[in-house]
Amino acid sequence: MAVLSDGASLYGGVSNPQADSHLFTMPRGPAGLLSYGAFLQASDSHLKNYPNPGSTAPKVIPRAAHNVSRDEISDAALKVLYRLHKAGYQSFLVGGGVRDAILELHPKDFDIATNATPEEVRSLFSSCRLIGRRFRLAHVRFGREVIEVATFRAAANHVDDDSSHDTEGRIIRDNVYGSLDEDVWRRDFTCNALYYNIADFSIWDYTGGFEDVKCKRLKLIGDPAQRLREDPVRMLRAVRFAGKLGFTIDESVVAAMRGHANLLTNVPAARLFDEFLKLFQSGYAEPTFELLREHSLFGELFPATEDELSKDGNYLAMTRSALRNSDERVAEGKSVTPMFLLGVFFWLPIKKLAEIRRTEEKMSESQALGLAAYEVVSEQQRRISIPKRFTVPMREMLALQPRFDNIRGKRAMNLVEHKRFRAAYDFMLLRAEAGEVSDEIAKFWTDIQLQSPEARAVSFQLQASPDKKPQSRRRRRRKPPQGS
Ligand code: ATP
Ligand code: MG
Repeated sequence: MAVLSDGASLYGGVSNPQADSHLFTMPRGPAGLLSYGAFLQASDSHLKNYPNPGSTAPKVIPRAAHNVSRDEISDAALKVLYRLHKAGYQSFLVGGGVRDAILELHPKDFDIATNATPEEVRSLFSSCRLIGRRFRLAHVRFGREVIEVATFRAAANHVDDDSSHDTEGRIIRDNVYGSLDEDVWRRDFTCNALYYNIADFSIWDYTGGFEDVKCKRLKLIGDPAQRLREDPVRMLRAVRFAGKLGFTIDESVVAAMRGHANLLTNVPAARLFDEFLKLFQSGYAEPTFELLREHSLFGELFPATEDELSKDGNYLAMTRSALRNSDERVAEGKSVTPMFLLGVFFWLPIKKLAEIRRTEEKMSESQALGLAAYEVVSEQQRRISIPKRFTVPMREMLALQPRFDNIRGKRAMNLVEHKRFRAAYDFMLLRAEAGEVSDEIAKFWTDIQLQSPEARAVSFQLQASPDKKPQSRRRRRRKPPQGS
């Protein structure tokens, strides 16, 4: 490999269209999440009008000229890298692992790229599983950690071939294994296309990504408009990385995104759910939310929510507060469940629909909320398919809200024992913050949780307070029998 002093001229202004397939048959990672490296597994490229990227050479940044230390790479990832290398294969860490290590962000997710075929990778690791139907990826497991190993891939068609894209420009065809020089061009952003070579700890940079990471700049590789048409999810990825890393989305990308948010309607709803999780569960939900709205993407994901947010400042404040809370929880290492945020996103649309349903038919507030939740979620599923394991508890949590208004009697006291009480209580506190629930009611439910069963029974007025004197019973005078 030629070592260039400056690789920038190799790609400046040249489009290098890469692509990914549409993942209708996406394999899933062990956590149930879509495997993101797998987005690349069926990549395709139509390189007509463009030079063959395979003919380019990278700028090689030696270890002494960068800050990526092996301490930043997990033991599992290092084991895989070394074993591949020792077996004679090219072995690179790529993607977010390299990017975040340069930024000293302690990466947790490691993707490896190699010229070993998936079968060859499997023969090296006993704990390896191959996933994916058309293009196979290797998952090597070490305890709970899974390292994804992808074989370099290239465009199958360096010829004029329109059949690789659908009428909207999305990638629909598969592609073949290739070399690193080819693999790089199908990746999305320059900052995600840096290859850390375990052989000598250098970083190979074909696209100017190293400089872009240093300048905190998100630039798409190739022609931005085309890259977004090929895979509109890249718009969400742009916002996600900008929110998480504090990067500026390059004006060329912003311009290509403008007016094209609706391309997301063509993305399979299951894939959008996986993106939703990455957008809102990674600890940067609040800045990401603001960016999604700024780039008109949020309304594509949650149209009914955006409708209400644009009209109601209180609801916007409540949403922001929930997102902030969620980010704080992630920062403290606490668990977060998507059902809570989904509850917030759907709350106002559901509440409004419930009010309408109650004017049409006689039913309790809780019943109306449950029914409206069902309707709003069904409509939403057309955009983002949310698994039942989240929608069912979310509906329960929302339907419990009217019960917080009642603080007397056995039914009120039983609420504390409800399996959704904790989530419903947190949700009620959020509503209290937004002025929907009085401070007294919120305080009542907070205090109640610290009380002994006896004191609680008194609070719910099921039992007289021991401090109070028992009231003496007044005798009723019998009515005198009639006619006497
Ligand atoms: P993080 O792990 O922090 O989400 P990441 O950059 O590692 O960030 P992944 O989704 O894990 O993102 O993907 C790994 C790499 O695969 C990316 O860095 C990028 O090179 C490539 N990639 C993933 N998704 C796409 C896509 N839709 N289009 C092009 N390349 C992609
Ligand atoms: Mg990653």
